Amino acid sequence: MTRPPKDSATDSTTPLVGRLAPSPTGVLHLGNVRSFLIAWLSIRSRGGRILLRIEDLDGPRVRPELIDQTIEGLLWLGFDWDGDAVIQSTRSALHEAAAERLLNSGLAYPCICSRREIEESASAPHEATLDGPTYPGTCYGRFSSVEEARAKTGRDPALRFRVQQGSVPFDDRFLGRQPGPICGDFVICKRDGGAAYQLAVVVDDADQGVTEVLRADDLLPSTPRQLLLYRELGWTPPQFVHIPLVVGNDGRRLAKRHGDTSIDHFRRRGVSPERLVGRVAELAGLVGPDHLCRPEELVAAFDLASIPTGAVVGEEHGLFDAEAD
Ligand code: GLU
Repeated sequence: MTRPPKDSATDSTTPLVGRLAPSPTGVLHLGNVRSFLIAWLSIRSRGGRILLRIEDLDGPRVRPELIDQTIEGLLWLGFDWDGDAVIQSTRSALHEAAAERLLNSGLAYPCICSRREIEESASAPHEATLDGPTYPGTCYGRFSSVEEARAKTGRDPALRFRVQQGSVPFDDRFLGRQPGPICGDFVICKRDGGAAYQLAVVVDDADQGVTEVLRADDLLPSTPRQLLLYRELGWTPPQFVHIPLVVGNDGRRLAKRHGDTSIDHFRRRGVSPERLVGRVAELAGLVGPDHLCRPEELVAAFDLASIPTGAVVGEEHGLFDAEAD
C-alpha cells in the first residue's frame, strides 16, 4: 500500500473515526460488548464515524458462522455503524503490500522457527514476558530471501519485524503515559503467508482512516509494536485508548469456565437488549443498577472519565445472572 493516511489524530479538523473490530473466534459476550459500547459511545458522543471490521484472519480459530451471528447480535443490541461491515480477509492484498515494503526495506526477515523451538530457546523464565517468550533473533540475517529460507530448510517461513529498541512510550487517552515495552522481534506474516494480527490491524486502521482505537487492555502489549509499524510505514497512528478488561474472579479474561455470558445465552432466556446494554453500561460506570436503555440513550451523558480504572470482575457485578424481561 502506498497511500499514507493524511489524517492526524491530534488535528482538530480531522474527522473522528473509530471502529468495532470483533474477531469471529468466539461468541459475542458481555465483556466484549462492554468494550464495544465504550468504543461506540466515545466516537458517537463527539459526532464521529464508527466502522465495523470483522477480523477473520486468525486461521483455524475463526468460525465463519460467527460472522453473521456477531453482526446480527450487535444490531440486536442497538449498535449501528457507518458504511458496510468490512471483512478483514478481503483486504489481504493491502496487507501483503505492506509486508513486502517492510521486507524490501530490511525491516522484516523470513523466520522458520516453530513455536516450540522458540519456547525451548527462551531458557530463563524472565524471558517469558508479556505475551509469550521473547524471540531470540535466531533467523535474523540468516536468509537473503523468503525463497532461500524455503529452499534451505524445506519450511515455509513466517515474516518477522526487526525490533531495534526496547520500548515505544506513548500517551493513552485513558491510562495516561505508557512505558510501551516491546519484547523482541514479532511476526507480521504467518507461515501460510497471511498477515498476522499486528500488521493487519495497522494496515486496516490506517487505510480506513481510523483516528481512535479504543479496546480492552489485554491488547496493551501490542500497541508499541503497532506504533513501530506505523512509524516504519510512514503513517500517523491513531489515538490509543485502553480500558480495563472484564475478567472472571480468577483474574483471567472471560471464558466458558466462568459461565455463559454470551449474548445468545441471555437472549434465549428472554432477556431484552435494553437490559443487557444497561448491564454493561452499569459495568462501565455510566448508569446505576437495573437501568434499561439503548446505546444511543447514553450518548449525551457519556464521559470516558466515569469508567472505573481497575479490572472489572464479572461475578462481583452479577454479570452471570440475568432475569427475563
Ligand atoms: N479483533 C481483535 C480482538 O477481537 C481486536 C483488535 C483491536 O481492537 O485491535 O481481540
